[in-house]
Amino acid sequence: MRRALEVAAADGTGSGVPGVADAVSITSAGAPPAEVAPVGTARGIPVDTTADVPVGAVVYGPDGAELAVGRNERELTGDPTAHAEILALRRAAASLGAWRLDGCTLVVTLEPCTMCAGALVLSRISTLVFGAWEPKTGAVGSLWDVVRDRRLNHRPEVYGGVLEPECAALLRAFFR
Ligand SMILES: [Zn+2]
Repeated sequence: MRRALEVAAADGTGSGVPGVADAVSITSAGAPPAEVAPVGTARGIPVDTTADVPVGAVVYGPDGAELAVGRNERELTGDPTAHAEILALRRAAASLGAWRLDGCTLVVTLEPCTMCAGALVLSRISTLVFGAWEPKTGAVGSLWDVVRDRRLNHRPEVYGGVLEPECAALLRAFFR
C-alpha cells in the first residue's frame, strides 16, 4: 500500500510525484517498499530565498506520517552541521521524544555526506531514500558507503538516485 507521502513538488505546482515506485533505483537487495520514494516532499524547499544550497530532507514515521522536515541552513544559522538531514533527524527525534528512529524513513534530495551518513547510522533509521548522487562528497556509495559498512552496528535499507533528474535540477538552478 502506498501511503500518503506524496506532497507538492519543489516548484510549488502541487503536481505531486507521479510514478514514484517506478523511479526507485534499488541499490540494496530486495524490492523497494511501495511507500518509499516521496522525494517530492524533500524537494519542496524554496530555492531562491536564502544563500544556502537547496537540500531538503523529510523523516517519515513507521506509519508513513511526516514527522519532520529540514533544509540546509548552514549559511542561515552559521552552523557547519546544519545540514538538512541533521536538522530533520533532530526534529523527528524531538517529535517522537526518543533518539531511536527505528522504522522511520529519511528522504533527502542529495546523497548524504559523511557527517549525515554517520548520524543516520546513529539514529537507527530503517530506510534512507536519496535523490541526486554527490560524487564530490557522497558517503552512501560515491566516495564511501558509511551506512552499509558491515563494521558498524546498524545498516539502513538504501534507495539512491530516486527522482535524480528532478533533484539535480534543484541544485543546478541554485548554482546557475
Ligand atoms: Zn550532510
